[in-house]
Amino acid sequence: MTHAAMSTGPESAATKAERPVVHSGELIPFNDLRIQWREIAGSAQREFNDVFATSAFCLGAQVEAFEREIASYLGAAHAIGVNSGTSALHLAIIAANIGPGDEVLVPAHTFIATLWGALYAGATPVLCDVDETTGTIDVDDAARRLSPRTRAILPVHLYGQLANMRAVIAFAERHRLAVIEDAAQSIGARWDGRAAGTMGLLGCYSFYPGKNLGAAGEAGLVTTNDATIAARLRALRSHGQSEPYIHAQVGFNYRMDGLQAAILRHKLMRLDAWTARRRALAERYRRGLAGLPLQIPAVHHRDHVWHLFVVRTPQRDALREHLQRAGIETGLHYPVPLQRQPCLAHLVRDRDSFPRAEQWAREGLSLPLFYGMSDGQVDRVIRTMREFSFSA
Ligand SMILES: *Cc1c(COP(=O)(O)O)cnc(C)c1O
Repeated sequence: MTHAAMSTGPESAATKAERPVVHSGELIPFNDLRIQWREIAGSAQREFNDVFATSAFCLGAQVEAFEREIASYLGAAHAIGVNSGTSALHLAIIAANIGPGDEVLVPAHTFIATLWGALYAGATPVLCDVDETTGTIDVDDAARRLSPRTRAILPVHLYGQLANMRAVIAFAERHRLAVIEDAAQSIGARWDGRAAGTMGLLGCYSFYPGKNLGAAGEAGLVTTNDATIAARLRALRSHGQSEPYIHAQVGFNYRMDGLQAAILRHKLMRLDAWTARRRALAERYRRGLAGLPLQIPAVHHRDHVWHLFVVRTPQRDALREHLQRAGIETGLHYPVPLQRQPCLAHLVRDRDSFPRAEQWAREGLSLPLFYGMSDGQVDRVIRTMREFSFSA
């Protein structure tokens, strides 16, 4: 297995070069997806055979079954399977009728794919600063960046926790903005019983292997409660066809694979149990790290799904090196905020006006947390962290 498949995001190439030379004990990886595979390998075989027996490789019965099951799991009226989270975000922007001349409010602290859809569609992403304690979009900051061209707000449910949707929805209603949720990191997180990705006009999900619900390759999903939008999304993902070989609109080849759907169905059955284990590991970290001079993740709602466990300290780089020397892999999500990305320079007037996004990028450190991680491994990370000399 490549290291990329084991990590949660595309930052893994950098981690690899910094692998520790010497360390005591077993390596604690940042993620280990083999454990999930071992649990589903036997039972998923039947659905795999079905895909080959019917040759339903692109869309087909497995995708339709997955769409029904995940729509019901999330409580969304419609779920449309696509080939990545990035494609989901692109189609969501188009389905919200956002294009050239339109502005979309997005957090500056996120994976860059959050704003690709708006850029692909010719719209203008407007970066906003984020909340100090959760790293999710700061609606007060977004309000200052509002213009007559603002058409949508795109909150990211970061690290497994919902953005402040009460504030986002009130703000969007006041200014007649569409809400498009990036729920790539937070499948199954709930707020007053409603699932991440089902509170706005459109919800976007990624099944990149390292996500909480991960495929064996690329896959994604869009949800909506609007039947007309759902029909349009189904056409858009398959060459803009409303009926065979009639292309009423410019479309894409963004279809979900049958094999990915077959795997995802088996993982979806186990998702709540796997999330429960993630919660137990996170709780163990929170207790074990209490009292250390670093910011442990703030929990603003009960149903956090702990995609990542990100602590913050001004000594991030030294702490990371200390852990690496002890054979503990960590991650950075994300070390360069969007206002400093070379390809986005034209969008940014004042790079210094995102102080909290800068702080998250400079100080955030993602500790190992994955389904199948043992209590003993968490305890070793905690012990190693306690041995680090934090400066006062
Ligand atoms: C993973 C991720 C995406 C992109 O999903 P892909 O399936 O990799 O295209 C978008 N936004 C966020 C916040 C993500 O974590």
